[in-house]
Amino acid sequence: MTTKYMTFSMYQGAMNRIFTKIKSIFRSPSHVGQEPVKADLIQSDIESNRSLCVVPWTHTFISPQSERRMCCASREKSSFVQQYIDQPGHSGVNYNPKTLEEHWNSEYMRNIRLKMLRGEKLSECEVCQDQVLNLSTYKDWFNKFLFPDLLKDLAKHTDQTGHTSLKPISYDYRIHNTCNFKCRMCGEQLSSAWESEKRVHNEWSEKNDPWMIPEVKVKIDGFQKNVVEAELIQSIEEKRIREIYWVGGEPLVWDLHWNMMQKMIDLGFSDQVFCRYNTNLSHIKFKGKHLGKDLLPHYKGYLICASIDGTGAIGEWIRTGLNWENFLANFKEMQMGPGGKDSIALDVTLTLPGLFSLKDMFDVAIELDSQVITKIIFAFDPEIVLSPLALPRDVLNEVLADLIAYIEPRVTPKTQSILETLRDLQRRPTFQEAYPDTYEEAFYRGRYHQLKVSARRKDGEPGKPPSLNDIYSKHPKVYEWWNRSRKSEAKL
Ligand code: SF4
Repeated sequence: MTTKYMTFSMYQGAMNRIFTKIKSIFRSPSHVGQEPVKADLIQSDIESNRSLCVVPWTHTFISPQSERRMCCASREKSSFVQQYIDQPGHSGVNYNPKTLEEHWNSEYMRNIRLKMLRGEKLSECEVCQDQVLNLSTYKDWFNKFLFPDLLKDLAKHTDQTGHTSLKPISYDYRIHNTCNFKCRMCGEQLSSAWESEKRVHNEWSEKNDPWMIPEVKVKIDGFQKNVVEAELIQSIEEKRIREIYWVGGEPLVWDLHWNMMQKMIDLGFSDQVFCRYNTNLSHIKFKGKHLGKDLLPHYKGYLICASIDGTGAIGEWIRTGLNWENFLANFKEMQMGPGGKDSIALDVTLTLPGLFSLKDMFDVAIELDSQVITKIIFAFDPEIVLSPLALPRDVLNEVLADLIAYIEPRVTPKTQSILETLRDLQRRPTFQEAYPDTYEEAFYRGRYHQLKVSARRKDGEPGKPPSLNDIYSKHPKVYEWWNRSRKSEAKL
């Protein structure tokens, strides 16, 4: 993944064009065997109800640490382990996971449904409501593309307590965090490579990472294997799934992915299933099977979001484990898959180092004739110094103006999202503007953390990606900002 990025991530412009292209091969499913429930709800006009989202009636998500939530974009209170997107709070100490059956019509979920039907604004959904990551939203994926026909009928499937007779038909089950990459803005919860590095360097604590306590980890692994995986298998055996989202960790290195995809083909209903991927695209073959040749041709449709946040050496710095040439070769091979070029997109998260290869990324996208999905690294905390918003306003504007001047004259519909996101960055408050009292100290903490990781991974040494100083030296003001000491704070 998600990605510490927002793994999910289907949005404005580029996504709308993809929706149009693939709509013709995918229609909303019917809910076989589910009787409508008579409802007596205060139902707002569907057209004007900006809160309403089909997710709590159709979709289910679980993290590798067994945190259930509405979707990967919702900001909820954690029950055990807080994740990067969660509302402020502390990690719990008790691992007490819920089964899907316990969660689906729990008081929490019933309240969410009622609030949505009443048109109430939900703090859990601010990422969509406030367009935090990009101009289009995750909600659009579900409401406009996957299940538009269901929207008007949600009340019919809901009783006055918020209980729904519908069962999940869209699954985002992150069974484990197994990943062969350790991208800089990701972390141990979503990457086993990160987890190993932290364990080796003893950079975790029972207080902050209770899920890493060996005895707890054994329990988590057991629950994810025996309960969560079994739930996924059950939904497949019931032929209920209509969308499956493969994201991790890195799903293409999971046995489970390849086995479940084959199982849906063997059960004869894969042609009703849409597949979505967030992948680092390091592997497209497994045990003699090829993703594009052996599996995907049997499915109703698919969309592969190939995560790539920089080209060449900068990309390899951001995404530790990336081999840029291998990525390009696999991307081109998958463009020749059954869905063609419109079923695979470059999924770009804008980071500050990544801005320094963005012109090249734009050129590569044009050359590949590829859709680009663009979003911004999460920035809920000024310690996230890899965010472009960490820069002072004047320096950020200078960097953005240069990029826009390069991209604007040659922008295409498929690359439009890059330009739109750069313009969006021009409008967003920088950390300095948003957190005037805490920005400076947060910068030093964030930089300290980055330098520590950098030293561990031997950045800048022969055979390794460049250092951040190498990357930032392309822009003297950025270099100066990054290397400032506390004494020069007053100048900034
Ligand atoms: S509105 Fe957005 S955050 Fe809320 S459930 Fe829907 S997709 Fe998830």
